[in-house]
Amino acid sequence: MDTPRLHPDTIEAVRDRADIVDIVSQHVVLKKQGKDFVGLCPFHEDKSPSFSVSPGKQFYYCFSCGAGGNAFKFLMELNKRSFADVVLDLAQRYQVPVKTLEPAKRQELQRQLTLREQLYEILAVTAASMNMPCTKAMALPPWPTCMVSGG
Ligand SMILES: [Zn+2]
Repeated sequence: MDTPRLHPDTIEAVRDRADIVDIVSQHVVLKKQGKDFVGLCPFHEDKSPSFSVSPGKQFYYCFSCGAGGNAFKFLMELNKRSFADVVLDLAQRYQVPVKTLEPAKRQELQRQLTLREQLYEILAVTAASMNMPCTKAMALPPWPTCMVSGG
């Protein structure tokens, strides 16, 4: 299975925006009852509404079969899907930009490389202004020997 490893930021952002009542009500007819919502449980043959959804706790619970969890768990159990699939679906629905770990790491690496290039530029310019040879190796740690000891 080739599931991208989602960045924790993405999971957080989706969790923030995904409302459990909104999500559950697309699959279960919910009726408001006090602070909570009730409906027929989709996880067992429910005759009377024993399925309760709490918008305050962002949690669902079935008093008959004991099914319970958050919005992610609901969609995973209902659709038999992986955590990442569910988060990706919700990210799309709520227009949350998706970050995965690998490109993030690549970005970080790219940033470091750029930084090193900039340092080399600085060193090269400094060396040139001081009439000193400054090779690319000097831009690598430990640096900047040509600046410090050259005086
Ligand atoms: Zn149930």
